[in-house]
Amino acid sequence: MPHKNEFMSKYKKNIIVFLSVLIALIILNTLFEESLVEDLFALTNIFYWLAMSWGIFIAVYALKIRCPKCHSGQVFRGISAFDIRWPNKKCFKCNEYIE
Ligand SMILES: [Zn+2]
Repeated sequence: MPHKNEFMSKYKKNIIVFLSVLIALIILNTLFEESLVEDLFALTNIFYWLAMSWGIFIAVYALKIRCPKCHSGQVFRGISAFDIRWPNKKCFKCNEYIE
Protein backbone atom coordinates (compact mmCIF):
# COMPACT_ATOMS: atom_id res chain seq x y z
CA MET A 1 0.00 0.00 0.00
CA PRO A 2 1.49 3.37 -1.06
CA HIS A 3 0.52 5.34 2.05
CA LYS A 4 2.86 3.24 4.16
CA ASN A 5 5.76 4.92 2.35
CA GLU A 6 4.74 8.33 3.67
CA PHE A 7 6.99 9.74 6.30
CA MET A 8 4.34 10.62 8.87
CA SER A 9 1.35 8.77 10.24
CA LYS A 10 -1.88 10.19 8.80
CA TYR A 11 -3.29 10.39 12.33
CA LYS A 12 -0.32 12.47 13.42
CA LYS A 13 -0.80 14.75 10.41
CA ASN A 14 -4.52 15.16 11.19
CA ILE A 15 -3.82 15.97 14.84
CA ILE A 16 -1.25 18.60 13.82
CA VAL A 17 -3.82 20.22 11.50
CA PHE A 18 -6.52 20.07 14.23
CA LEU A 19 -4.16 21.61 16.80
CA SER A 20 -3.24 24.43 14.38
CA VAL A 21 -6.94 25.27 14.03
CA LEU A 22 -7.30 25.18 17.82
CA ILE A 23 -4.37 27.56 18.27
CA ALA A 24 -5.88 29.90 15.64
CA LEU A 25 -9.20 29.87 17.54
CA ILE A 26 -7.43 30.61 20.85
CA ILE A 27 -5.53 33.50 19.22
CA LEU A 28 -8.75 34.89 17.73
CA ASN A 29 -10.43 34.55 21.12
CA THR A 30 -7.56 36.38 22.82
CA LEU A 31 -7.60 39.16 20.20
CA PHE A 32 -11.31 39.75 20.67
CA GLU A 33 -11.05 39.58 24.44
CA GLU A 34 -8.41 42.29 24.38
CA SER A 35 -10.37 44.55 22.09
CA LEU A 36 -12.48 47.12 23.91
CA VAL A 37 -15.27 47.19 21.35
CA GLU A 38 -18.43 46.19 23.21
CA ASP A 39 -20.21 44.96 20.10
CA LEU A 40 -17.63 42.24 19.81
CA PHE A 41 -18.40 40.79 23.22
CA ALA A 42 -20.74 38.20 21.71
CA LEU A 43 -18.02 37.16 19.27
CA THR A 44 -15.63 36.55 22.15
CA ASN A 45 -17.98 33.92 23.51
CA ILE A 46 -18.38 32.28 20.12
CA PHE A 47 -14.61 31.81 19.73
CA TYR A 48 -14.32 30.61 23.32
CA TRP A 49 -16.94 27.90 22.83
CA LEU A 50 -15.63 27.04 19.37
CA ALA A 51 -12.18 26.50 20.85
CA MET A 52 -13.61 24.44 23.73
CA SER A 53 -15.70 22.20 21.47
CA TRP A 54 -12.84 21.84 19.01
CA GLY A 55 -10.51 20.85 21.86
CA ILE A 56 -12.96 18.17 22.99
CA PHE A 57 -13.26 16.94 19.39
CA ILE A 58 -9.47 16.57 19.16
CA ALA A 59 -9.37 14.66 22.46
CA VAL A 60 -12.11 12.26 21.28
CA TYR A 61 -10.38 11.83 17.92
CA ALA A 62 -7.08 11.05 19.66
CA LEU A 63 -8.81 8.61 22.05
CA LYS A 64 -10.20 6.67 19.10
CA ILE A 65 -6.75 6.00 17.60
CA ARG A 66 -6.27 2.41 18.69
CA CYS A 67 -4.38 -0.61 17.49
CA PRO A 68 -6.64 -2.92 15.42
CA LYS A 69 -4.90 -5.94 16.93
CA CYS A 70 -4.24 -5.32 20.62
CA HIS A 71 -6.55 -2.25 21.02
CA SER A 72 -3.92 -0.16 22.82
CA GLY A 73 -4.55 3.58 22.69
CA GLN A 74 -1.81 5.15 20.57
CA VAL A 75 -2.06 8.73 21.83
CA PHE A 76 -3.29 8.28 25.40
CA ARG A 77 -1.05 5.43 26.51
CA GLY A 78 -1.70 5.71 30.22
CA ILE A 79 -3.75 7.63 32.74
CA SER A 80 -1.41 10.58 33.24
CA ALA A 81 -0.74 13.53 30.94
CA PHE A 82 2.85 12.34 30.65
CA ASP A 83 1.66 9.23 28.80
CA ILE A 84 0.43 11.22 25.79
CA ARG A 85 2.45 10.48 22.64
CA TRP A 86 2.24 11.17 18.92
CA PRO A 87 0.71 8.20 17.10
CA ASN A 88 3.12 6.24 14.93
CA LYS A 89 2.48 4.19 11.81
CA LYS A 90 2.92 1.04 13.86
CA CYS A 91 1.51 0.08 17.25
CA PHE A 92 3.97 0.91 20.05
CA LYS A 93 3.10 -2.39 21.76
CA CYS A 94 2.74 -5.10 19.13
CA ASN A 95 4.18 -3.37 16.02
CA GLU A 96 0.96 -3.88 14.00
CA TYR A 97 0.23 -1.25 11.30
CA ILE A 98 -2.33 1.21 12.67
CA GLU A 99 -3.66 2.63 9.40
ZN1 LIG B 1 -1.04 -3.32 18.99
